[in-house]
Amino acid sequence: MTKKTQGRLIRNSKICDRIYIVGRGDWGGTPALTKKFDCNIYLIDGGSELALVDNGETFNLFKLRGNIASTGLDIRKIKKLLITHNHFDHVANTWLLKKALGAVVFAGKGSYFPLKVGRYFKNGSTIKVGDLSLKVYSVPGHTPDGFCFMTKIDGKKIVFTGDTVIGDQPKNGRGRVGWFNAMWGSNLKEYIKSLKFIKALDADIILPGHGLPQLTRKKCRSSMVNCLKRLNNFGNFKELESIIPLAFDRKGVEKCFSVGANRQVNLKIKFIKPPIKKK
Ligand SMILES: [Zn+2]
Repeated sequence: MTKKTQGRLIRNSKICDRIYIVGRGDWGGTPALTKKFDCNIYLIDGGSELALVDNGETFNLFKLRGNIASTGLDIRKIKKLLITHNHFDHVANTWLLKKALGAVVFAGKGSYFPLKVGRYFKNGSTIKVGDLSLKVYSVPGHTPDGFCFMTKIDGKKIVFTGDTVIGDQPKNGRGRVGWFNAMWGSNLKEYIKSLKFIKALDADIILPGHGLPQLTRKKCRSSMVNCLKRLNNFGNFKELESIIPLAFDRKGVEKCFSVGANRQVNLKIKFIKPPIKKK
């Protein structure tokens, strides 16, 4: 990725025709668009309806709404919330957005954490967002419920990878992948299989769960090679940066989901609801 491209992505939320980045933390030294620890939040413009890929952690809805508005698209058209995997930094706003927008939640099965889902993804099935089709594929490894989504725009294959592929990053090195933790069901064998599968998709654009996207096929390819190298080295324990033990306990996480989020519900729904236009 050239400096020019990075600069463009930092200033401008449009990644390519019909896809925008509307939320992002400061992972890898990129300036946060929403909250510090947020995942990347993508907005898909399907014409008659919109969808969000992941939705970040709590307390960022003002900024998120502003970022969506700055694309010129109407937040009320968001009718689908697509979840790459059920980690707090990707899903904590799900309930609020679902409630405020009347959107349907789509996610994978098998998550360690609780998340009320409207529909579960089926491996290889297609989801429509307006006139765009997204193929959904099961990619366990980082978590058992991991899914990636692939769509084609202007003949280009675009793959949303969640944390399965974070890939080459300017400040954080090559081939970054999601963290491992036995508590949330990470599995090295499955992870390598999932990476090989995504590599075989041969994407033109990879949109990861954190950090900056890969915007050319050449970069996607080399980044995938580096991801696989990293995981293949994992067994040697040389790559200690990949093994970050997290001190979450289940009760603490559940508390974040239920108590902390719900307390803010009424307040937030008021703000996320777009003002009603007077005729
Ligand atoms: Zn994750």
